[in-house]
Amino acid sequence: LDRIGEIIDPLGERFSAAGHELHLVGGPVRDAMLGRLQNDLDFTTSARPDETERLLKGWADATWDMGRAFGTIGCRKGDWQVEITTYRAESYDPDSRKPEVDFGDSLAGDLGRRDFTVNAMAVKVPERAFEDPHGGVVDLAHRVLRTPGRPEDSFSDDPLRMMRAARFAAQLGFDVAPEVVEAMRAMASRIEIISAERVRDELVKLICAPWPRRGLTLLVETGLAELVLPELPALALERDEHHRHKDVYEHTLTVLEQTIDQEERLGGGPDFVARFAALMHDVGKPRTRKFLDDGTVTFHHHDVVGAKITRKRMKALRFSNDEIDAVGQLVELHLRFHGYGSGEWTDSAVRRYVRDAGDQLERLHVLTRADCTTRNARKAARLRRTYDDLEARIAVLAEQEEMAAVRPDLDGTQIMEILGI
Ligand code: ATP
Ligand code: MG
Repeated sequence: LDRIGEIIDPLGERFSAAGHELHLVGGPVRDAMLGRLQNDLDFTTSARPDETERLLKGWADATWDMGRAFGTIGCRKGDWQVEITTYRAESYDPDSRKPEVDFGDSLAGDLGRRDFTVNAMAVKVPERAFEDPHGGVVDLAHRVLRTPGRPEDSFSDDPLRMMRAARFAAQLGFDVAPEVVEAMRAMASRIEIISAERVRDELVKLICAPWPRRGLTLLVETGLAELVLPELPALALERDEHHRHKDVYEHTLTVLEQTIDQEERLGGGPDFVARFAALMHDVGKPRTRKFLDDGTVTFHHHDVVGAKITRKRMKALRFSNDEIDAVGQLVELHLRFHGYGSGEWTDSAVRRYVRDAGDQLERLHVLTRADCTTRNARKAARLRRTYDDLEARIAVLAEQEEMAAVRPDLDGTQIMEILGI
């Protein structure tokens, strides 16, 4: 708290001089304890939005309306992004997609309506008094997500919280308490009253988190994935007698993790497009499965089908056309390399690969390499060496083209004339 004293002390004094309570709350309190505090500071206050705005004027560098109807005023002070929200006492119309907001008059009421105990801790400013009525600090120490009240009641008030449980599990690496998982399983179908955009936003945060496997596993185990991303559980194909394709699902999670391992190549930071393409790269497989006479299984052309399924799902989740095109293109191209054999492509086939990948070439490299994983370690190593070879050829061609671009349109005689040699 000393690190943010220059912000919280004067702000707390301003509110308290005007007769209002102000508390640092939620994410920043949790993250400060985990040693991962960012530059976003959220507060909750007894002041109504107009009053909050008045108190910020003359202190903040800039203020704006983040949704006055929901009680939130935003401001910036130096490097800090601050959001101040009036105490809430939310009530939900079970048939409505949008929460109705009633302003409340106590911190206790506000904290009791928050999603998880680790998000329901507050620090009163300027006194710096720690408020934790739901035992969030104990849950944080145990790295577990619990709801302040009965999870069934919480999820019935706002089903999006089930997605948030999976998202925070993925972001924080926490477990979800067994009774909370049980409530998610029981109430999964309620997610359908939530708008696709809000589900999508949680899904994006989950996939871009450090431990997406945790969040995705929860979604699959509770049945939520069946409703928001059914292509994922569908990858758990029944086992054939050779156990060869029993787990396209498991393979997919591994490819996602291997994509993350190579993310530095993409300029650092989570790359949603690459990660989502990894998650969807094999979704065409269940539809193109063929059983051969010898009892084995193959998949025909699952790239084009997979890209189509991917686009449809992303459209339903209201992703932008640019995002849909980017992910769809990667899914469609991820198998092309398998035609490379042991270097059989002509230069123009290599050039076509580069041209078709366009500005996503680096992502395609990452995804294809991540996909070079099979239980047969020797085969995987051979695939990787082959891709090294393809990338080396791409580099050589790129260099040749650069040379061609700088080579002047003059022959030797003309050059000697110009230089007087
Ligand atoms: P981050 O900003 O890093 O994603 P956060 O904890 O700040 O994490 P937000 O989605 O910004 O998460 O929400 C801020 C706080 O508001 C949360 O910590 C939580 O206390 C509360 N909150 C947000 N959405 C809900 C919800 N649907 N139900 C209950 N409480 C919520
Ligand atoms: Mg936040």
